[in-house]
Amino acid sequence: MAQIGVDLVKALAGDRPAEPTAISCFVELDPATVPTPNELGSRLTSLVTAARRAAEEAGEDHSTTANLRADVDRIAHFLADDFDRSGGKGLALFVCEDLGRWEEVLLPGAVGSAVHIGRTFVLAPLLEFLERDRPVVVAAVGRERGMLWRLRSGRVQELADFSRKGQGRHDHGAWPQARYQRSRDRDALEHMRRVAAGIAEHVAPGSRTLVVVAATEELRPAFELLLETHVKKALLGFTQVEKQQSALDLLPEVERMLDARLQDEREALLARWREETGQGAGLAGGSWADALTASWEGRIESILVDGRTEAAFECPACSRGYLRPGACELDGNSLMPALGGALELVVRGALLHDGEVRWAPEGLERSTGCVALFRYAAVPPKGAKVTDRRH
Ligand SMILES: [Zn+2]
Repeated sequence: MAQIGVDLVKALAGDRPAEPTAISCFVELDPATVPTPNELGSRLTSLVTAARRAAEEAGEDHSTTANLRADVDRIAHFLADDFDRSGGKGLALFVCEDLGRWEEVLLPGAVGSAVHIGRTFVLAPLLEFLERDRPVVVAAVGRERGMLWRLRSGRVQELADFSRKGQGRHDHGAWPQARYQRSRDRDALEHMRRVAAGIAEHVAPGSRTLVVVAATEELRPAFELLLETHVKKALLGFTQVEKQQSALDLLPEVERMLDARLQDEREALLARWREETGQGAGLAGGSWADALTASWEGRIESILVDGRTEAAFECPACSRGYLRPGACELDGNSLMPALGGALELVVRGALLHDGEVRWAPEGLERSTGCVALFRYAAVPPKGAKVTDRRH
C-alpha cells in the first residue's frame, strides 16, 4: 500500500491515457462514520455499483468499456478480499489498465466515498493530506537520553537511539564533588552534541523536513546552541518531555505545532500574494482564468486552493485549459469538459511544473477558490499594448 507523498501525486498528475480509462476511487473508512464491518461492506457494495455505472457511461467504444469493466472487477475483488482497513481513515485507488497503473493509497484522514472516470485522475481529495505530509524529526533529549524518530502523516519510525545507558550512575569514589560534577557536565554536553549532529543528518538543508525537540526547560538553551543553522531553520519548537515518553506520546503536541507552522506558511504566502497584487506587475493572480493559463505555461510558483472549483474545458491535444467550451486557441481542437473542472487542471499543471500546491481551507473566502503566485508575468499577446502599472 502506497503512502501519500508529493512524488506519488505528481506521477498521478502526469498520467493521461488516450481513452477515458483512468479510475479514481475514494473510500471512506473513518471508524467514526463507518464503525462495523457490515456497514463497510454495504458502503463498498454501493461504491462498486457506482463504479460499474460510471464505467458503462464513460466507455466511448466497445474496447474501452471492456477495459473499464475489467478494472472495476479488479477493484471490486480487491475491496472484497485483499483489503485491510486497519490504520487508515480513508483509501484512494488509482487504476488504469491502459497505463499499467494500480495504486492503493491509505489516507490518514477521512475522505468522502466517490468514483471518477476520465482521461485524468482526480487529485483534489488528496490535497489536504498532501498539505500535512511533512516529515518531522522528533528528538527526545536529556542528559542521558537521545531518541530520534521521524513522524510523517501519523506514522512513527525510529531513526536512532543515542541514549547513554546507565552512565553517570557509577560511584565517583574519591573524586571531589565539584570535579565529578564538571566531568559529568562535560559528558552530558558531549552526548547532546552527538544528538544534535544526529538530527542534522536526518534534515537535509532546504528540505520540507521539520524538527521538534522534547527537552526540559533547563536543557533547551544549551541544546539550541548545538543545532546546526539549517536545523534551527527547520525547528518548529521545543516541547516538554517526561522520562520514557515515546514518540506516540508526543504525537498530539507535534501535530499541533505542525498545524501552526503550516498556517504560518500559508499566511505568509497570502501576504505575499496581496503585496504582489498591489504591485500590479503580473506576478499574482486571483482568478481561475489567470491560473489556468499560468499552470499550462508552467508559471505557477505557489497556488493556494480550498476545494472550490469551476466548470472548465481541456484541449485533448495540448491539454490547455479554458473556462469556455469551443476550440483550442492554439491548435483548433475541440475542447472537452475537464473532470473536476478548473481546480484539477490547475493543480495538475502546477504539480507537473514543480509548483507548490497548498491546501488552504481558510483565507480564500474573497477569491473564487484559488490564489496564485507566478514565477514570471504572462507574455502579452503580439500587438498588445504593454503598460507598466508599477509606476
Ligand atoms: Zn490545444
